[in-house]
Amino acid sequence: MTITIKKQSLLQKLPSIDRIIEYCQKQDAFSQIPRNVWIDSGRKVIEHYRHAILNDSHNIIEDQVGIDSLYLQIYEKAKQILSPKLIRVVNATGIVVHTNLGRSCLSHISTQHILDVALHYSNLEFDLSVGKRGSRYSSVEAIICQITGAEAAMVVNNNAAAVMLCLDTFARDKEVIISRGELVEIGGSFRIPDVMTKSGAILKEVGTTNRTRVIDYEKAISSTTALILKVHKSNYRIIGFTSEVPLNELVMLGKKSNIPVMEDLGSGTLIDFSKYGLIYEPTVQDSVKTGADIITFSGDKLLGGPQAGIIIGNKTLIDSIKRNPFTRALRIDKLTLAALESTFRLYLDEYQAIREIPTLRSLLQPIEIIATKADQLNQVLNQIGSSELQIDILKLSSQAGGGALPEFEVPSVCLGIRVQGISVNQIEKFMRKHSPPIIGRIEGERFIMDLRTVQEEDVEYICQAFKQLLEGKRS
Ligand SMILES: *Cc1c(COP(=O)(O)O)cnc(C)c1O
Repeated sequence: MTITIKKQSLLQKLPSIDRIIEYCQKQDAFSQIPRNVWIDSGRKVIEHYRHAILNDSHNIIEDQVGIDSLYLQIYEKAKQILSPKLIRVVNATGIVVHTNLGRSCLSHISTQHILDVALHYSNLEFDLSVGKRGSRYSSVEAIICQITGAEAAMVVNNNAAAVMLCLDTFARDKEVIISRGELVEIGGSFRIPDVMTKSGAILKEVGTTNRTRVIDYEKAISSTTALILKVHKSNYRIIGFTSEVPLNELVMLGKKSNIPVMEDLGSGTLIDFSKYGLIYEPTVQDSVKTGADIITFSGDKLLGGPQAGIIIGNKTLIDSIKRNPFTRALRIDKLTLAALESTFRLYLDEYQAIREIPTLRSLLQPIEIIATKADQLNQVLNQIGSSELQIDILKLSSQAGGGALPEFEVPSVCLGIRVQGISVNQIEKFMRKHSPPIIGRIEGERFIMDLRTVQEEDVEYICQAFKQLLEGKRS
């Protein structure tokens, strides 16, 4: 490598770390930043320029490596290191349970409960009635049983863990009968067959992809059968020439053969959505009534609570799950427990649940309300830049998401935005990089924001973002 004269002069201009430290510690702005953070940022910035000078110095001008310019860059870098990386975003996708965007938002009541338990000591494993050690699960078990009608309940980290734990408890080195039509992959590479294999259970597949009959299950039963498993198809449907065995027939077969029947409901809803004009999705209560011995479902899908896996069912079976040493590794923390308990408590009154739980509120939001939100946002955006923004109000559909209600496509109202002189990809990127980020989608030449999932507090941020976009364009 040849060191040109320009490189040499740039390198000479680049201050040493000692010089940087001496300079920065005199700056007021740095007094709020931990010393090791800005020193580290200083090292990184110098290293960046040393490398850049040696490799492509033609892009660098002398002023950039002067201490005044470096100081600002170091400040920016330090600020960046100090700012949280997990941040709120505006969900304008219309996908209510969006796994990449954190699935369910919690109710205010649940977040209050979390704060209370987080800031103070709690009776997490202390039985206040006798003054002795108690069970971590007792606070939530009672309310889960009351709401679902189950005999006993247990909670773990997520539904994947719930399925794993059940299989490990009942079917290690034994056979689990499952229909070929239910060997699903949920996303995030959660594949039912893989989970079963990992848990040490032996997969006994029956039927075909599109048709499985009760006789297929019956013929597969042997002395090594531990469990009959039914899995909710969650994110897909088989249509056409199909048949699957309903839970009640599996329950009858299980009783006759003395084999427990387990159902992985996936999302699991406590509310019959058909009452509110959406498609019917079997409820957790239905499965309990039908007589499944073990049922598992997620805490943060349609339930609208925190990430958790809920296991309910027959008390003898739940007790043996509680005794499995694995539960210790999959155990739920106190913050989640608080949120889960208060989420379930809201279901004591279904209307209250729909009012307070954001996931339910978004899913069941009347179209008129969404349309009003769209009109209002449209008006404000037009005030910001009616000549540069071309806004269309579009009637599109939202999705439930999260492997929940796969056929759920409810009518919604969206804004489709075009900005003069800015490509739709640039708009999407600008919105994604905004603070807080605004996540929409591109359809055709438009940036689409579905108002179903846009919260009231989000509107202001959306306006700010478009204001900044237009200002940046004008300057
Ligand atoms: C989503 C889902 C899971 C996984 O649940 P998590 O709570 O995300 O771990 C398992 N089974 C089915 C059928 C699902 O839909």
